[in-house]
Amino acid sequence: MNFKKTISYIMAAVIILSLSAASYGEISVTNRAAIDQLRLKFKDEAAKVPNALPEAVQSYVVKSEKRGQIQAPRLKAKRAPKYQSSETRLQQTAPAPVQAPSAAPAQPEASVPPAPLQAALPQAVQAAPAAPVTVSSIPSVRPVQALNATRPAASPAAQSPAAPENRPAFIDNTDECFDVVVDPGHGGRYEAARNYSGDHWDPFSKTFLLPYNFGASSSGMYEHEWTLNTAKKIEEILNLTHTDAGFAEFCKILRRHSDLSSSKIKKVRVNTHLTRRYSWEDDPGKNTANVNKKYRLFDSPDSFSSGKSGPSEKMYPGRISFINQLSPDLVVCLHNNSSPNRNVRGFSSVIVPHFDFFSTINGIVTNGIANVAPNKVRVNEPKYQKVANFITSVITRPDKIDVKTMISDTATYFTGFRAFTQKFIGLRYLMVTWRYNTSSLFTSFMLFFMRENSIYENYRRSGGPEGYGGDNFYSSEEIIRYIRAALWEDLRSSNGYYAAKTSAEEYAGSHASPFVSDWAIPLHVNAITAYVELGYLSNARDRKLLKEKQAVVAESVAVGIYSLLAGLKPKKTEGIESPRGAAIDFAKYGRDKNSSGYFNISCRPLSF
Ligand SMILES: [Zn+2]
Repeated sequence: MNFKKTISYIMAAVIILSLSAASYGEISVTNRAAIDQLRLKFKDEAAKVPNALPEAVQSYVVKSEKRGQIQAPRLKAKRAPKYQSSETRLQQTAPAPVQAPSAAPAQPEASVPPAPLQAALPQAVQAAPAAPVTVSSIPSVRPVQALNATRPAASPAAQSPAAPENRPAFIDNTDECFDVVVDPGHGGRYEAARNYSGDHWDPFSKTFLLPYNFGASSSGMYEHEWTLNTAKKIEEILNLTHTDAGFAEFCKILRRHSDLSSSKIKKVRVNTHLTRRYSWEDDPGKNTANVNKKYRLFDSPDSFSSGKSGPSEKMYPGRISFINQLSPDLVVCLHNNSSPNRNVRGFSSVIVPHFDFFSTINGIVTNGIANVAPNKVRVNEPKYQKVANFITSVITRPDKIDVKTMISDTATYFTGFRAFTQKFIGLRYLMVTWRYNTSSLFTSFMLFFMRENSIYENYRRSGGPEGYGGDNFYSSEEIIRYIRAALWEDLRSSNGYYAAKTSAEEYAGSHASPFVSDWAIPLHVNAITAYVELGYLSNARDRKLLKEKQAVVAESVAVGIYSLLAGLKPKKTEGIESPRGAAIDFAKYGRDKNSSGYFNISCRPLSF
C-alpha cells in the first residue's frame, strides 16, 4: 500500500519535473539551458537504471531509515570526523521565503569553529544571565570534539552529589546524550548572484543562482550579530550539562522557568554545535576571496581561479551539509525579522509543510490548466480560491500565507523553478552533501522523494502537538513560548508596577501565526528543526527588547531546548501563555539506547 503510494508519488513527481514548463508556465531563456541539461541527464540516467532500482530504493528506506544503520552502540560518536578539520560551514537559504513580511526566509549560515578559536570562545561568552557559573567550571567542550568523545554517559561514577541546596528536586540520572545544533542566521557578506559570487551554487550550470542574503538590519542593529551572540550564550548555558557541578547550576536556571516542586529533573547531556562562530566582518579570513563559502547554506566551490580552470572541483560543505554530518537530534535556527511596516512586532515560527501539502496544491493548480501559464491566471481565479481554502483547512492561523507565494514555493519544491517568474533557483537536494544526493541524478531524485514520503517526515512536518506542522512546529512554538514567558516574568519581577499596567502583548509583541514556505534548513536536514523569527529589527521597541533582554532570551531558549529533549513542568505565570513542557517523542523516530534511528541517517553516500 505504502509502496504503491510512494511509487505513484514518484511517478507524479517525475512527470511534474519533465512537464514543468507546461505546469508552471514557460521557461525563461535564462533557465532553459539549465533545465535542458537536467532533462538530458535524467534521460541518460533513466536509461541506465536497471529495472531493479525501485526495489533497491525501497529496501533502503526500510533498512536505513527504519532501523537505522546501526553501528556500534553510539552512532553519534562516529559521526563527527568528516568535517572536523574543516573550518566552517555555511548556509544560506531560504529559497523563496517570500511570505515573510520581511527578509525572514533566507537564512544563511555558519561555520564551525576552528579549533583554536574555539578555545577562546567560552570566555568570550558573557556569563549566562542568571547562572552565576564561573566559566572555568565549564569544560569548554568543543562541539565537534564532544562528538568524538565516546558518549559521556552519566556513569554512576559521575554522580557525585552536588550540594543539596543546589538540587531543586530529585535529579534523575540518565545516560542520555543529545546533539543540538544552534544555527545563528546569516553571517556572510552580501553578494549579488554573478560570476563567482552569490548563493545557491548550481552544480549543473556552474553558477550561483541567488544573491547571498545578508539578513536584516536597522538602526545599527544587525540580525547576524544578534543571533550569533545569542547562540554563544545558549551554548554556554547548555554546556553546564556536561558536569555534575554544572548541572546543579543548570537546575538553578531551570527553576526560574519551571515548577520543580513535584517533578524530577532528568540529567541529560546536551552537546551543542554552532553552525558558525564568526560573521564575515570578524572572520580571520575576511579579506580572502570566497569568504562566503563558510556562510552559505549549500555546498559551493572551495575556490575560484580567474583563469580557465574557474571553480575548483573541490567543494566546500555548506551549512546544511555540516548539520547533517553531525546527525543532530534538534536544530534551532535563530532569526530576527524585518518589515517595511515599522509597526509590526512579535515572534513567529517558520514551518515547511509536508509533501502531501505541496502535492495537493500542485494538484489543484495543474488540474485543467496545463496550457495556461500561472502568470496569466488571475488571483481571484477559482483555482486560487481552492488553494486558499485548502491552506486554511490545514493551517489554523493562515494570516501570513500568500496564495501566489505558496503556489510558487510548491513549484520550487518539485521542480526548482519559481512559478510566476520561471526563475530557476536550483534542485536544492542536489546542492547538499547527504545520502539523497548520489552520483546518479535519477537515483537522487527518487531517494529524495522517498524520504519526503517517509513516516519520519510526516512526524516532523505534519500533524503533531500543534495540530499541524509536526514536531518541527511544536519545537518552534515551545521555544517562543519559553521566551515570551521568560520576558514577561522578568518584567514582573523587575518592574511590577509597570507590569501591572501593561500586558505581555504590549510589552513583548505578539506570538503571531507561523510563516509557511519551503525554507532550506528545515527541508534539507534530518533532525527536528525549530525555526524562529524573534522580533522585528524594523521596530524600535523590538530592537530595544532584543538588545536589553538578550540574556533572558538566550537563557529561555536553552531551557526550551532542554524541555524539548527531556521534558519539563513549566511554571504558570499569570498573563502569558505557558509552554507545554512535553519532550519530543524521539522513540517514534527509532531513537533508543541502541540506535539513533532517523537521526543517524548520515550524509555518507549510499553504495549504489
Ligand atoms: Zn534571517
